[in-house]
Amino acid sequence: MSQILDGKLVSAKVLDSVAVEIASMPQPPTLAVILVGDDPASQVYVGNKKKACERVGIVSQEHFLAAGAGQAALLSLVEELNRDLNVHGILCQMPLPSGYDYDEQALCRAISPAKDVDVFHPENVGKLMLGEPELLPCTPGGVLELLDDAGIDLAGKHVVVIGRSNIVGKPMAMLALQRNATVTICHSRTKNLPEITRQADVLVAAVGRLHFVTADMVKDGAVVVDVGINRLEGRKVRGDVDFDAVAPKCSWITPVPGGVGPMTISILMKNTLQAAKLQRGEA
Ligand code: NAP
Repeated sequence: MSQILDGKLVSAKVLDSVAVEIASMPQPPTLAVILVGDDPASQVYVGNKKKACERVGIVSQEHFLAAGAGQAALLSLVEELNRDLNVHGILCQMPLPSGYDYDEQALCRAISPAKDVDVFHPENVGKLMLGEPELLPCTPGGVLELLDDAGIDLAGKHVVVIGRSNIVGKPMAMLALQRNATVTICHSRTKNLPEITRQADVLVAAVGRLHFVTADMVKDGAVVVDVGINRLEGRKVRGDVDFDAVAPKCSWITPVPGGVGPMTISILMKNTLQAAKLQRGEA
C-alpha cells in the first residue's frame, strides 16, 4: 500500500516557515489580488488566499472590478499596483469573465515581473526555461515541495507529465528537468498514452478529467501526483487519478482533496515573501 503525500501537512510546514520569517521583518509584504466579476469559485479562491495571507502575516489587498469593467480599466489598476512601492505581489484571479473582451496574455505581460507571484509573465517564464527562476510557479513548485518533503529525488527518474498547459504541465516538466529527471510530456494528441505512463517512475496528472488515470496506466511502485480538481455535485472535489484503484500499486500518492491543492497557495505565500525580499534587496 502506498504512502500519502500529505499536502495539508506539508503546506502547513511551508506556511509556518514563511510566518516565522515575516514575523522578523520590520514591514510585512503586501499581496494585491484582483478579482474581475463575481464567479463563485473565483470568490472562494480569493477568500482562501486572503486567509493564507492572514495566517502568515502578509498584508492582503483585494481589488474588485465588475465583470464588464473592461481590459483598459483592468490594465490601469495593474499599472497603479505596479507603481505602488508598498505592494510586492500582484495576481489577478483567472479565468477572466467570458463574454467580454479580456486579453489574459496582455494582462500577464502588464504585471511587473518583479511582482508577478504567479510566474505568468514571459520574462519569468523565460527565466524558468533558462533554469534561473527567482520565484517558482505555484502549482508545480508545490509538487516539488511535496516530493522534497518525502525525500523523493527526481534525478535520473522518468517523470511523465500528462498535460501541457502553461500553468501546470509545461512548468512542471521544466522543474522536473532542472532536477535532472528524464521528462516526457503527454497531451490529448499523444498516442498509446498508457504505454508511456506505465514507464513513469513519477506520474503527474494535470488533465482536468475525473479518474482519467486508471490502475492499468501505472507501474508498480510509481509515485503518483494528482493535480486535477474535478468538481462533483455539491462541494465535493476529486482528482484525475482513480485513487482507490491506483493507490495500492504506488509507493506514494497524493489525495484529492488534501494533496497538491493546499501546496499551491503555500507557494504563493512563499513567492510573495521572496518577491518582497528581492524588491527590498534582502534576498
Ligand atoms: P488545461 O489547461 O485544460 O490542460 C489540460 C491538459 O490535459 C491539456 O494539455 C490537454 O491536452 C490534456 N488532455 C486533455 N485530454 C487529454 C487526454 N485524453 N489525454 C491526454 N492529455 C489530455 O488544464 P490545467 O490548467 O493544466 O489544469 C489541469 C487540472 O489541474 C485541472 O483539473 C485544474 O483544475 C487542476 N489545477 C489544479 C491546481 C491545484 O492547485 N491543485 C492548480 C491548477 C490547475 P491538449 O493540450 O492537447 O489539449
